[in-house]
Amino acid sequence: MGKSGNNIKSIITILIVSVWFSTTLAQSNPELSIKPIKCVSGYGKAVALTFDDGLRPEIHKQLLNLAKKESVLVTFFLIGNTVDKNRLLKRTIREGHEIGNHSMTHSVLTKLSDSELRSEILDFQMMFKEDYDYVPTVFRAPKLQYDERVMKVLKESNLIPVNATVGTKDWAEDTTKEYIYNKAISAMKTCDGCIILMHEVKKTVDVLPQIIKYYRDNGYKFVTVSQLLSNKIQ
Ligand SMILES: [Zn+2]
Repeated sequence: MGKSGNNIKSIITILIVSVWFSTTLAQSNPELSIKPIKCVSGYGKAVALTFDDGLRPEIHKQLLNLAKKESVLVTFFLIGNTVDKNRLLKRTIREGHEIGNHSMTHSVLTKLSDSELRSEILDFQMMFKEDYDYVPTVFRAPKLQYDERVMKVLKESNLIPVNATVGTKDWAEDTTKEYIYNKAISAMKTCDGCIILMHEVKKTVDVLPQIIKYYRDNGYKFVTVSQLLSNKIQ
């Protein structure tokens, strides 16, 4: 075997060692294998209504008014650099709704460098701490894209990764109110503690009273995501 044969041998050895190392590392670090939460079973009937991307002031105001009228608390996963430092957000926090971290710019985090990825997550935390004296505890990745690096930063920041039991596709223009409603109410077939992913769009606000009614008629409580996770269901 010549010099190139030895080179190939060393490359193969390096590959085997790195595969072994990465699988062993994943097994020995339980936090790297935590999956984003889609369902919380065993805590009784509860539903977390979640709204991504916001804030669209007019829609957000309608959502807050509706939530107040219906006596429900909801969770907003916001994009940091679109957050207006306005009264609506202060009102949102004051009325007991939850703010989740949805990154600073809504970039797909798995495609970013380590330092970009860190600032997407940590700048959001810092901004809410400084501007609102509020510490988000839940995180939803843009386009629900996670990898081990994302999970590691979340773990270090005490942020819980949250997906959803169902997505309503209400962001798409051709999604009808009927689809949003049917998709939203289907979550209860999957688990008792379910999470519904919606956005701040008019058709969702229009159909929300019916969704709330359906869950209420079926004995569900309305909770924020962190209440669902910590079983603080009243
Ligand atoms: Zn989003």
